[in-house]
Amino acid sequence: MDYEAVIGLEIHVQLKCATKMFCDCHNRPGDEPNQNICPICLWLPGAIPKFGREALEKATLTCLALNCDIQHQSAFDQKVYYYPDLPKGFQLSQFHRPLAKTGWLDIIGKDGAQERLRIHKIHMEEDVAKLVHETEGRTPISLVDFNRAGTPLVEIVTEPDIRSPHDAMEFIRALRTQIQYAGGSECSMEQGTLRVDANVSLRPCGTDQLNTKVEIKNMNSIRNIGDAIAYEIDRQARCLKAGEEIVLHTRLWDPEKGVTAPMRAKFEGPCVPDPSVPQIVISDEWLNEMRSRLPEMPGRKVERFVDQYGLTREQAVLMSSERELSEYFEAVVNQEIPACTVAHWIATQLLPALKERSQTFIDTPISAERFAGLLAMLERDEVNANSAKEVLARLFETDQTPRAIVEESGFRQVSDTAELEVLVDQVLAANPSAAEGFRNGRKKVLGFLIGQAMSVSQGKANPKLIREILIGRLS
Ligand code: ADP
Ligand code: MG
Ligand code: ZN
Repeated sequence: MDYEAVIGLEIHVQLKCATKMFCDCHNRPGDEPNQNICPICLWLPGAIPKFGREALEKATLTCLALNCDIQHQSAFDQKVYYYPDLPKGFQLSQFHRPLAKTGWLDIIGKDGAQERLRIHKIHMEEDVAKLVHETEGRTPISLVDFNRAGTPLVEIVTEPDIRSPHDAMEFIRALRTQIQYAGGSECSMEQGTLRVDANVSLRPCGTDQLNTKVEIKNMNSIRNIGDAIAYEIDRQARCLKAGEEIVLHTRLWDPEKGVTAPMRAKFEGPCVPDPSVPQIVISDEWLNEMRSRLPEMPGRKVERFVDQYGLTREQAVLMSSERELSEYFEAVVNQEIPACTVAHWIATQLLPALKERSQTFIDTPISAERFAGLLAMLERDEVNANSAKEVLARLFETDQTPRAIVEESGFRQVSDTAELEVLVDQVLAANPSAAEGFRNGRKKVLGFLIGQAMSVSQGKANPKLIREILIGRLS
């Protein structure tokens, strides 16, 4: 029997807020342990949570970016369980009355067709503290860091609409882009501001039942999510073929071994309305204000980049894949550089160079102005493409202008015809058999001769002119 996978995701996103959700402590993940704490977020008895506006704003922007219906009334519940990272014994979470329902995101499926994947709901909740396990000493100990306790999260729960690891990964990528654009969160899996659990079950192809699922945790990259789901689909298929029953439980992904292993029976504690946080009432007016804060979102931007700048769709998608990147691209284009040149140089030179240096557009030392300066010299034939690549590498190291680098390091392209003619004659004299070959119809030799001329000029000759002069001399 052939099975199809049924996949639903539960995604925790840590909101980009200056303070925690119910107190004024800093929300700064990298700080020294237990620096950002107060009676409220240590959850001491008698401390009363005060719900902050910023969390509501960032959560609402996130929900709008994911095409959700914001609920005019929502409220917090106490999700009751005890664990050392939650010593008060319950987590404030909007279980019964979430902030938003019924959203969606479009992705491009494996077969190249667009698919709409539905979101069931999005609710706000506070994060728990963080356990740090020290195994170095003679007696292993566990420490609790409360910096994370009470920081603002949203949990996004999808419908079980996803059918493949590929689509799950695309969904996460699309979600990350939307939320980053909206300013809800950086959504970094590395830094833990985006955490994804996957629910997986199988069913015979062509049926529509929802069978018992297994929940997988502990994936810390998008690649891991795809691999873990693929492994789990395989594992369940083997179980079903062997006649084994699937039982509801939670499994952990082991990235080293590339397998999922059972962790625990799935746990679900009681959930009761919280009496201390007032219910949240949202007016149309406030909601409209939030809508007006959203920037141009990637879907629209792609269309505009194609229409306005004549980019290919592929280029437009890449240039819109991050908000900072799209703004950088437009800033360079606004310096009168042809958009296709800008897109090409960003895609093939700047992005790889940033990646190599583990930098992003936010911390790149190459301002849009300097990058535009370099491309302008390339456009005016003042440097050739090879030299421009070297100048780009220097731009990372100094804060000189591209012009200064070109002048100082002698990268200026030689476009002086008389000078180039001398050079070409030298090359022809040094390679008589190649010249002869060309005259006898071996046209490929031209490339070799251009290469020789470029290398004699130490890469500075204008290759277009070299080519013209060579053809003139040889015919
Ligand atoms: P639970 O209460 O066990 O957490 P939910 O109904 O809240 O289950 O669903 C959690 C996630 O699991 C959702 O993303 C949902 O789409 C997904 N899901 C629900 N049923 C299934 C199933 N049979 N197979 C795969 N995923 C499922
Ligand atoms: Mg759940
Ligand atoms: Zn606090």
